[in-house]
Amino acid sequence: MKCPFCGHAEDRVVDSRVGRDGEFIRRRRECLKCRRRYTSYEYIEDVLPHVVKRDGRREPFDRQKLRSSILKACEKRSVGVQAVDDVVADIEARLHDRAEKEISSLELGDLVMEHLQRLDQVAYVRFASVYRQFKDINQFMDEVKGLLKEGEKTKSPPPAASASPAPRPKPLVKAK
Ligand SMILES: [Zn+2]
Repeated sequence: MKCPFCGHAEDRVVDSRVGRDGEFIRRRRECLKCRRRYTSYEYIEDVLPHVVKRDGRREPFDRQKLRSSILKACEKRSVGVQAVDDVVADIEARLHDRAEKEISSLELGDLVMEHLQRLDQVAYVRFASVYRQFKDINQFMDEVKGLLKEGEKTKSPPPAASASPAPRPKPLVKAK
């Protein structure tokens, strides 16, 4: 970006922030020559990577789609909308930081799962079953078992209210 004061082409980014409505990133930049600072605005659609799907098709990153897929996984779980929005915001921020032009849908799914694993295990399994597209029920069960083991290690016992038997996930995989 050209410095508006001296025209020098090199700068460094001092600070990046996503605008309140998520439409643009505001960056504070410092000219490497005259050291003056200025602000640039980049629209998110220009900065966020395209998502490369399994079949090789690319589509623009769609925050609404991401949000609704997470909300769906969290349906009827005790995960607040705010928590979901926080996950979406964090993922967006990480995509900005990567500053790469593309991300595979698998990688994106992994980012989501990292969050869901901490947030809610049922939501995690639901999401995993859709994203990983398990080849068969055994692969799915392996994942669930590994998950339950980890949960035993890290989680304190659930509150009495949710002491129902462990939910049995249905195979959710829809072949596309
Ligand atoms: Zn300058």
